[in-house]
Amino acid sequence: MAALRISRVEARPLDLALSEPFAIATGALLAANNVLVTVTLEGGSLGLGEAAPFPAVSGETQASSLAALRALAPLVEGRLATEWRALAEALARSVPSEPAARAGLEMAIVDALTRALGVPLAALYGGAGQPLATDVTITAGDSEHARRSAESFARRGFRTLKIKVGAASAGDDAERVAEVHGAAPDARLVLDANGGYDEAAALELLRLLERRQVPIALFEQPIPRGDPRALAALRRLSTVPLCADESARSAQDVLELVALGAVDAINVKVMKTGLVEALAIIEIAKAARLGLMIGGMVESEIAMLHSAHLASGLGGFTEVDLDTPLFLERGPTVEGYPLDRDRLVLDLGQSGIGRTLA
Ligand SMILES: [Mg+2]
Repeated sequence: MAALRISRVEARPLDLALSEPFAIATGALLAANNVLVTVTLEGGSLGLGEAAPFPAVSGETQASSLAALRALAPLVEGRLATEWRALAEALARSVPSEPAARAGLEMAIVDALTRALGVPLAALYGGAGQPLATDVTITAGDSEHARRSAESFARRGFRTLKIKVGAASAGDDAERVAEVHGAAPDARLVLDANGGYDEAAALELLRLLERRQVPIALFEQPIPRGDPRALAALRRLSTVPLCADESARSAQDVLELVALGAVDAINVKVMKTGLVEALAIIEIAKAARLGLMIGGMVESEIAMLHSAHLASGLGGFTEVDLDTPLFLERGPTVEGYPLDRDRLVLDLGQSGIGRTLA
């Protein structure tokens, strides 16, 4: 067992250039200023993790993640990686408001453990073996940008397009979404407002799209977090299923959304909650028969492959939103991000996430 003891935790800036700004209703990210977390076990296994703070979503920054990781390292050094669930609880008690940092450290511990044991990550999480095909995001911008993005993504084989709305008026957004539908008529469309509308504007957008006969599969976070009753009221009027993202930042949030019948689906991101609490959210959503999306912040292949293994191993995911490595000029690993058209090619015979640092 000594070989599975955590000997060292290291955290350093992981600055990744983006091929275009990642613009959403609440702001734009011009570069991914993330944190690379490595965990070394006494037996020599090295685990990789990544914290991806998104300041416009949660207020976390690269500096706050680095500071949190400096505080967390002594809590896990000298402990067994096999105790990853208990360690996660200690981390959550220590820095409750830095979930991205905790997620990065939890991922690195579990990655190191599975590498030491020679076990594929997806097998550790459950072995369901669900195949995953990801959507791709059309970031907030003008109609011309939306049209060009839709054409290019459809040509590359993406079957679901997630359109960021809520940065403009419902009328302008309806125009943009219709432009996307015209450019990629076979694509399934998901909308994500990141809380950028009020109830009236959200309903107005759906009404305008209905009039233009643009089918929408799912509408994510139409209104801001913090008012689950308003979300429940909106769901009763909406012609499209609703998904909670910002409104689902904890297992407690999800219990409340379930009790109120506020949404049809939950977007699970380990960066919002840490890894172990994401597992609790998945259990609650499954028991309530809600749809499940696996998503992320602006993450490289390190964090996104971990989430892919989690989703594939647990199974039951109805939406896959693991596309941000496509927006990076270059990822941090030798092997990169394994996409074949829109399908993730996970090596389920390899331990850990199967990646080595470049
Ligand atoms: Mg979202």
